[in-house]
Amino acid sequence: MSERKATIQVDSLELSRQHEIMDRIRENNEMEYAKTGKKPAMHVLTFGCQQNNADSERIKGMLNQMGYAEAPSTQAADVIIVNTCCVRENAELKLYGHIGTLKHLKRNNPRLIIGVCGCMMQQEHAVEMIRTKYRYVDIIFGTHNLYKLPELLERSKNEKYTLIDILNTEGMIVEDIPVKREDKYKAWVTIMYGCNNFCSYCIVPFVRGRERSRKPQDILEEIRKLAQEGCKEVTVLGQNVNSYGKDLEDTVDFADLLRMVNDVDGIERIRFMTSHPKDISDKLIETMRDCKKVCEQLHLPFQAGSNTILDKMNRKYTKESYLEKVRKAKEAMPGIALSTDVIVGFPGETEADFEETLDVIRQVEYDQAFMFIYSKRKGTPAAELSEQVDEEVKHKHFDRLVKLQNSVSRKLNEAYMDRIVEILVEGPSKNDPERLTGRTRTGKVVNFDGFDKPQRDTLIGSLVNVRITEVFSWFLNGTVTD
Ligand code: SF4
Repeated sequence: MSERKATIQVDSLELSRQHEIMDRIRENNEMEYAKTGKKPAMHVLTFGCQQNNADSERIKGMLNQMGYAEAPSTQAADVIIVNTCCVRENAELKLYGHIGTLKHLKRNNPRLIIGVCGCMMQQEHAVEMIRTKYRYVDIIFGTHNLYKLPELLERSKNEKYTLIDILNTEGMIVEDIPVKREDKYKAWVTIMYGCNNFCSYCIVPFVRGRERSRKPQDILEEIRKLAQEGCKEVTVLGQNVNSYGKDLEDTVDFADLLRMVNDVDGIERIRFMTSHPKDISDKLIETMRDCKKVCEQLHLPFQAGSNTILDKMNRKYTKESYLEKVRKAKEAMPGIALSTDVIVGFPGETEADFEETLDVIRQVEYDQAFMFIYSKRKGTPAAELSEQVDEEVKHKHFDRLVKLQNSVSRKLNEAYMDRIVEILVEGPSKNDPERLTGRTRTGKVVNFDGFDKPQRDTLIGSLVNVRITEVFSWFLNGTVTD
């Protein structure tokens, strides 16, 4: 039984100090507004995963508390924060391009403050690149000290050089940071941070730190407050939610937490991501089956089908044990929607190895798969591996994988034809504003009509039943039935 090492919480003194600074900056901004009639504005650019989206909602929450309105674009902003991602090499290169485009804004508005944060900034080479090549960036901070933004913002006003504050400790838990949510009816709720799995191709453990769980009472309090504000669906987030609670004093695991969230009045739907297959327990599968609000959807990255490659990836499961977990989930929840992540072209991958990957796709039949071509990630063990796969072979395999997965997704969507499904209405459809859009409990996007125009806005945020009339590979169309 591993020794439970208590997770460090940022002390309340430090947090109240940041809140005092937020109040001070807000007073200054209000005075500015009274003088100029122009409300200072902020703009946050977010790259990467759901965790970064959730972090950006906290960055916006703090800036909002400091009296910054949200600007529709970087052009109209007085503070710009770029929340970076470094999961793949090209993501990092693209980001330098984005930061480069901000230079002229500084020339037009010398009082503009530009900050760069997120996973990329937890890497020394990237911080050095920004510090030396993008000197107009005022603040650099990381994933472990978001809560220090007020202090960094205030100090940067008197600094000539780029202010750099990167925490490389084990990582801490910070509660009571204001949040500005993107959506009223659906919310991201982070339950834990970091990852201890060290898959050989992944940079996350190096930039997000060791696993640390929020206390269940803090998570439940956040979700109860969301429910009171009208939120209907929560997605609980973690790099590996199945490790939840392993670092907490009291013995509570992810399945226990799901049951507690299931009891929160007002919440209608619960989703979660991401699960590591090695930690999916029978207890969790039973809990998903028994908790009515937990949606029949499971994101279970398998990455590769060959045990040789899984071993090189340090994934800690085999093709067989993975398929057994999938079998149990399907048995407990017939019709469950499965999604996954797959990497093609991992060093040493042979034709036979790749066939194993295709075999898993055929056996499991995923509703959705996020498919990637392996790219070396500086700082990860896999980047040192020889036997890099030829680029042409990688692309050929990738095309075959996408073709197979598209046919599977299409086939699974066809099973929805003429079925009546429950939708949480999110808003007007992007493809056709005359229609509304939302998702099924299995995560399918459905665009639908059949409601009276005046009724349209009242439906947003509610659960309605829709009959499916048309199916496509990535979405469905339908008509409201009630
Ligand atoms: S489980 Fe593996 S792939 Fe996922 S974040 Fe952790 S190290 Fe990365």
